[in-house]
Amino acid sequence: CKEHKSSEYRIYENSMNAKAPEMFMLENSFHGALEKGEFALYYQPKVNIFTQEIVGLEALIRWQHPTMGLVPPSIFIPLAEETGFISEIGSWVLKTACDQIITWHHQGLQPLSVAVNLSAHQFYQPTLLAELDHILSTTQIDPQYLELEITETTAVENIELTTQLLQQVQTLGIHIAMDDFGTGYSSLNYLKQLPLNTLKIDRSFIQDLKPNTKDLEIIRAVVALAMGLDLEIVAEGVDNAEQIQVLKELNCKIVQGYYFSQPLPTAEMTRMLQDNWQQ
Ligand code: C2E
Ligand code: CA
Ligand code: CA
Ligand code: CA
Repeated sequence: CKEHKSSEYRIYENSMNAKAPEMFMLENSFHGALEKGEFALYYQPKVNIFTQEIVGLEALIRWQHPTMGLVPPSIFIPLAEETGFISEIGSWVLKTACDQIITWHHQGLQPLSVAVNLSAHQFYQPTLLAELDHILSTTQIDPQYLELEITETTAVENIELTTQLLQQVQTLGIHIAMDDFGTGYSSLNYLKQLPLNTLKIDRSFIQDLKPNTKDLEIIRAVVALAMGLDLEIVAEGVDNAEQIQVLKELNCKIVQGYYFSQPLPTAEMTRMLQDNWQQ
């Protein structure tokens, strides 16, 4: 999403390889950032394009750095993975998302599933299952409203272990989505093996989606595949009406993207959910 990044973001990106002072500064300021409340979860709706209804949300983390401004997750998540700080951030994200599910429930809103992104480090951590189990029992949320998103790249790191882990996660009642589908080592073999609930088609296939394109044929095939395997399908990064038109023709019902909404802070998402429900 380069076109949406302001110039301040580019400083970090250009310096990724060289590890510029900005990166060291970010690294150092992880410590205490959670306690100081510098992180926030934003929520982006997944919408049924035929009914306009919100059918779920994805939680996306934001870091409001005291001196560097808003740092995008594409910058600080890889850094947090590298330094191990991702465990703390990941736990905070899970806890915050589950607490929010409860809060919305108490506010009388219709229950919606909230998807949380898991990085590879988090996913393969031996404590993951215990942590999920603990969160479910302390928050008492209905596990079907929690969804975990892992990428293909994460999944294929160790396909046997991934299969085992995902089976255990599903035993807890939690749903699983394959994120950025089509960009990693997509393989029919893992689709056969892994217990998944959802495929999220990566934005790169949606970006230039028009009639008579290869992208269209790829999505048509993925939709058929998902239907045959009883998987839900979500098109990500949908930002214009032409894409919606094509996706309707392909019967790809659920979309996420700027066309409907950017990721929103909790208060704004709450208002959107209230409006959506009252309609
Ligand atoms: P992702 O999981 O693929 O998330 C989708 C990204 O696409 C989000 O960027 C979202 O804001 C952006 N997006 C949504 N709709 C559109 C659209 O119509 N057009 C464009 N150009 N972009 C759109 P964001 O929030 O900057 O997150 C980037 C990545 O950072 C995420 O990619 C995910 O891999 C990672 N991330 C975000 N939050 C977390 C988190 O809590 N934990 C972990 N481990 N990773 C996270
Ligand atoms: Ca995601
Ligand atoms: Ca994605
Ligand atoms: Ca993506």
